[in-house]
Amino acid sequence: MKLQIKSSLNPAIVRGKYNDTIVAGTIFEVNGQPWKHHYLQLKGRITFDQIEWLNGITIQKKDQLKEWKVKSSKAGKFYTIRETPHGKLTCDCPGFHYRRNCRHTDEVKNGAV
Ligand SMILES: [Zn+2]
Repeated sequence: MKLQIKSSLNPAIVRGKYNDTIVAGTIFEVNGQPWKHHYLQLKGRITFDQIEWLNGITIQKKDQLKEWKVKSSKAGKFYTIRETPHGKLTCDCPGFHYRRNCRHTDEVKNGAV
């Protein structure tokens, strides 16, 4: 069975020093499991024949990116939530700036907007 790698970038293979292989790229999943690192270190030499690249993450073109306006808790104020080319949401409120997450992006994720 091939090693399945889900990544927005075509994975690159780098030969490690100690008879290992490093698969570089923006890796989201390895064999269906979420992967928190941007690379994968494997024992032994692996070639591209042994890797299946699942390009499951669609990069959106800039003019196709979505944008939402969400009301602030302060009257008359709105925040702008934007989708990045990798499908993540950003918000221009102070909370998102510090926590990389906020009530406004949650509302968009939950379909409340
Ligand atoms: Zn926000």
